[in-house]
Amino acid sequence: MTNEVTRIEAIDVEYYQVPLAEVLSDAKHGDHTHFELILMRIRTADGCEGVGYTYTGGKGGRAIYSLLNDEMKPLLLGQNSTEIYRIWDQLQWHFHYVGRGGLLSFAISAVDIALWDIKCNRINQPLWQVAGGVNQHVDCYAGGIDLNFSEQKLLANIQGYLDRGFEAVKIKVGKADYKEDVRRVEAVRNLIGPDATFMVDANYSLTQEQAIRFSRAIEHCDIKWFEEPTIPDDYLGYGKISDATNIPLAMGENLHTIHEFTYAIAQSKLGFLQPDASNIGGITGWLQVAQLAYANNLPVCSHGMHELHVSLLASQPNAGFLEVHSFPIDQYTTNPLKIVNGKAVAPDIPGTGVVFDDALLTPHLKMSS
Ligand SMILES: [Mg+2]
Repeated sequence: MTNEVTRIEAIDVEYYQVPLAEVLSDAKHGDHTHFELILMRIRTADGCEGVGYTYTGGKGGRAIYSLLNDEMKPLLLGQNSTEIYRIWDQLQWHFHYVGRGGLLSFAISAVDIALWDIKCNRINQPLWQVAGGVNQHVDCYAGGIDLNFSEQKLLANIQGYLDRGFEAVKIKVGKADYKEDVRRVEAVRNLIGPDATFMVDANYSLTQEQAIRFSRAIEHCDIKWFEEPTIPDDYLGYGKISDATNIPLAMGENLHTIHEFTYAIAQSKLGFLQPDASNIGGITGWLQVAQLAYANNLPVCSHGMHELHVSLLASQPNAGFLEVHSFPIDQYTTNPLKIVNGKAVAPDIPGTGVVFDDALLTPHLKMSS
């Protein structure tokens, strides 16, 4: 198709603050009372539309909105929407000096997802098939944000996941006294039984020594992975923790460039990679990491935005586990995630499979272009 048809003609950017039903906490980010959703709507000359988005845990979203609205929108208008990778690369290098791996990675994600939505909509195909089309049914787990829950409430929350059909669960760890974490891990394993899959996530709150001590103390609980035991920048430290315990390590939500993943694979002895299309440069960035994982014989998993990642995991031969996140973004879409026989099912609708329900979102709109 010619640029006359596929040219980017109009762009709208929207910023939402969406309240959470209750305060959620982890070891490092403090209390979450709401999440921020930043939407980019792109329309082409022939009227085709795509919606892209990114989100935050409640902070920094206005700066991402400004990057999209004030900096990127003028650059994108008039460009050919089919040239997705060229635009991705152009945005990376135009803003690299001020934004490498930071807010820039979030902003590019929103642009890239909108362009992929257009690409899929134009041929009337679902993302999971356009991106590779391997297996529509994806292994998944419920990712709790539950460090502030009492043990009783933690167990009730886990029981709720089991009742919804989950066969894998993850909890937060990182209490001031690691023995309390050990007791919580043991209690959850006791509740879910020996066959359920179980992960833990410290949100990089521990030192190497604390991580090794804790990991050894829960080895008897059959833990699938220990996520972000220490700061994500300490690639070699991950390698030392991995050498000292028999629980595989996972990270990725805080690696925001393909180069960071390259270093992590080379140095951190990870068992699982967890790229997030909302902060790794969208679908293009996520697929880069998936291929890097494949080349290194590693499963690719995901962090957050399960409503989109379900389609990406379904597209890849080395798919690991989809995180079903505690931020309820998909309560604001027309087709919330479906779990069938313990697996998440990628939607068959054309586009990214994420269609926001404007009537539900509009009350939370704070800024728009
Ligand atoms: Mg995590």
